[in-house]
Amino acid sequence: MNQLFYVVLTTLFLLSKVSNVTNPTIEKLAYMNDTTAVAESQMDNLILVDKTHRLPEDWEEHLDLVMTVNSVSDVIFVERTTYHAYLGLKEDLAKEGIDLDLDSAYRSVAYQQDILERFTEKYGEAYARRTVATPGTSEHHTGLAIDLYFRVDGVEVYENEDLVQYPEVWEKIHAKLAEHGFILRYPNWKNGEVDLTYEPWHIRYVGKPYAEEIMNQPLYSFEEWLEKNVGD
Ligand SMILES: [Zn+2]
Repeated sequence: MNQLFYVVLTTLFLLSKVSNVTNPTIEKLAYMNDTTAVAESQMDNLILVDKTHRLPEDWEEHLDLVMTVNSVSDVIFVERTTYHAYLGLKEDLAKEGIDLDLDSAYRSVAYQQDILERFTEKYGEAYARRTVATPGTSEHHTGLAIDLYFRVDGVEVYENEDLVQYPEVWEKIHAKLAEHGFILRYPNWKNGEVDLTYEPWHIRYVGKPYAEEIMNQPLYSFEEWLEKNVGD
């Protein structure tokens, strides 16, 4: 009931904000014929939102969101350029028999609060605090982060505990990320340093040249890469 309430609330809130609620198919066709679609979306693709970097206050008012629906009927909002990049990734992976879907993308601060409460109820406070970002500090507030799930061999794999049972599928997905402008945000080789558990499903759009650079130097987290290349 609580969850439904927030979904309805979030949807209403977003519908009042989203200027262009578009059918994904139509959206995709329009994009292919209109090269200005990406140029118009002047997002700061390298924005850092984490435990110590809160979402800038004016971020959400400039956010250009596209709405779509996943296979379990969740309404999903994604930043427009990120969504186009995701469609390219999805198309590429379909050729390998992996049918990608969106579990979660843009989240409002209120919705993040709800997730934290639900995880606390389901898994206990320690696990919830370790795996769910504090409201205001989730990368999902940017619209540039996506949690993936997939269907493979006719099986829909949706829950986190099931998703981790498919390392060979994740390997194929992760290999394609950079060429579509995405990075794996919480890889297992950074487990000790990013202070969150391994999340093979959480990808982040940064744009193609940056993604290739970041994914090709897997010794550093996104935070460390930013520090070395962009500074404060
Ligand atoms: Zn995520």
